[in-house]
Amino acid sequence: MGMTKIEVYQTVEDGIVKLGARVNDPEANVADLLEAWQPLCDDESIYKIYGHNHYSACKGCPNNCCDTAYVIPDLISFRNMAAQLQVTEPEFIQDCFDQDKWALGLLKIKSNPCIFLQERLCTIYPLRSLICRFYICSDLTWDTEQLIYTIAWSGAAATQIYAQQQGYLPEPAPGGYTSFDRVFVDLVEAYRELPGVKAFLTAGSYEDVPLRHFLKGEQ
Ligand code: SF4
Ligand code: SF4
Repeated sequence: MGMTKIEVYQTVEDGIVKLGARVNDPEANVADLLEAWQPLCDDESIYKIYGHNHYSACKGCPNNCCDTAYVIPDLISFRNMAAQLQVTEPEFIQDCFDQDKWALGLLKIKSNPCIFLQERLCTIYPLRSLICRFYICSDLTWDTEQLIYTIAWSGAAATQIYAQQQGYLPEPAPGGYTSFDRVFVDLVEAYRELPGVKAFLTAGSYEDVPLRHFLKGEQ
């Protein structure tokens, strides 16, 4: 018994209702946070900016964020998706990733809409990447926003580093980067040596990635 490892709560900040996640257990891991966060997608009492009538579950959303999402999967999701689709990692990259971005050395899932979106539903939902799992079109507290994006982009940086190590990517050709590509490439370089990225590189599952690497003031 005791406190839940992670609490998701609503609070008012600057006159706006925001969602936050509080980590109570210093030993909590990314799987614990995902478990606490997932119910938000289905919660019809939470204000969603783009949701149908603002109060509805994400399932079948008509303004689906998956129509435009820029998804670089975290390494755990990347491996799980390839395994589920029963293809090798290079085949997975060839089939499901944007080939123009690949030629620039970036692993972006085919988008507009996302290749995995069928009839408004995600066909790989349980294995979808962290950026997809954490995204919600609601206001978040600053700390929580920092936390979830640091985790998601650390996981994505790990995919990028892993793919470079495995020889899955051509030499980068920076000329064609969009500003967002550039931000991501710079982020990979800035994150490369961080313990959170290293945790993703050696993890078998989200349970192996401790949250303490991503919490403010700790590494
Ligand atoms: S998070 Fe995405 S799927 Fe959910 S309500 Fe917002 S736009 Fe729709
Ligand atoms: S992987 Fe699934 S959740 Fe993520 S953008 Fe694509 S359809 Fe949406």
